[in-house]
Amino acid sequence: MKVLVYSAKDFEIPFLQRANNGRHQVTYLKEALSLDTVFRSVGHKAISIFSGDDASSIVLETLKGLEVKYIALRSTGYNNVHLKAAEKYKLKVANVPSYSPYAIAEHAVALLLALNRKIIEANRQVRTYNFLQSNLMGFDLKGKTIGIIGTGNIGSVMCKIMHGFGCDIIAYDIHKNTSLKDLYGVIYTDLESLCAHSDIISLHVPLTKQTYDLISKETLALMKPNTVLINTARGAIVHTDALVEALENNKIAAYGADVYEKEKGTFFKDNSVNGIKDERLKKLLTFPNVILTPHQAFITKEAVQNIAQTTVENIDAWANGQKCVNELLPEESITEWD
Ligand code: NAD
Repeated sequence: MKVLVYSAKDFEIPFLQRANNGRHQVTYLKEALSLDTVFRSVGHKAISIFSGDDASSIVLETLKGLEVKYIALRSTGYNNVHLKAAEKYKLKVANVPSYSPYAIAEHAVALLLALNRKIIEANRQVRTYNFLQSNLMGFDLKGKTIGIIGTGNIGSVMCKIMHGFGCDIIAYDIHKNTSLKDLYGVIYTDLESLCAHSDIISLHVPLTKQTYDLISKETLALMKPNTVLINTARGAIVHTDALVEALENNKIAAYGADVYEKEKGTFFKDNSVNGIKDERLKKLLTFPNVILTPHQAFITKEAVQNIAQTTVENIDAWANGQKCVNELLPEESITEWD
């Protein structure tokens, strides 16, 4: 099958080439899928995209016109794909449902530890030969309460890791995983109670109509002033303006994120020369108690290898006329930019 890979990053191309092993005729394109780049798909039966690509209704309609049949996501999250439109235009879409929940949960913990133990400031300071410690006070994780929102693949690993730190774990999810109580003492509660009682909150739900702005002015108001909020899920689960207001008024202690509400146009490229126009993002980056990473939680060798493997297997299934086990259904469709 002829496949066009959009948003191909230098670090993943060797993994994709190894996984493909010459089976499909693959072209790699650095640009993301958008209305400007969709015409590059001509002559390809399948395309592969990442979470920052624009697979909105109009782009999917254009893909249909170009006779593209299959979209293989190289991500778990699929909030950027208008699945109802994909169904309408007879485009089959598959994701990589689980490639390494460890990579993401470990990154969430890295953000938490870096914020709590002031690792960024400390390192910046010692590089100027300033070895003072007065601004570096953290807290023990042992005995603290962590609220995990979403206890699927990644959230369950997060429960395991935080149990290892000696935290008490409370959780909120529409589907309870009862085994987590026996394994790590996880107690399910409602969202409001989780927000009110947690010292740390970590988000692991997908972005859907229900989780959009889940962390809002109202839920932030319930949190304790010492709360550290971690978001490795999707930016739009947090209402950025409400978050900025909460940080300005010391309503929460810190925010660590790998994702941002409006990644399109800013993330996945180097803006260090031309700067960025997003004033909200600029504001967020002024807080010393905020750490933002560039959607990198999935970038471990194991995760990228698994992503490449499953992506090629999804394409194999379509090429062989078989049912692809990772095909997505339209009921949870939500697009970030419609
Ligand atoms: P998963 O499907 O295994 O788990 C998601 C959990 O969220 C499920 O238990 C589900 O019941 C729960 N949930 C769904 N809607 C909910 C709602 N309205 N309220 C409460 N709970 C709800 O998914 P996963 O593999 O754990 O991944 C979670 C998310 O993490 C992905 O959807 C993706 O957006 C994000 N992610 C980010 C990165 C990154 O690089 N930063 C990488 C992978 C995944």
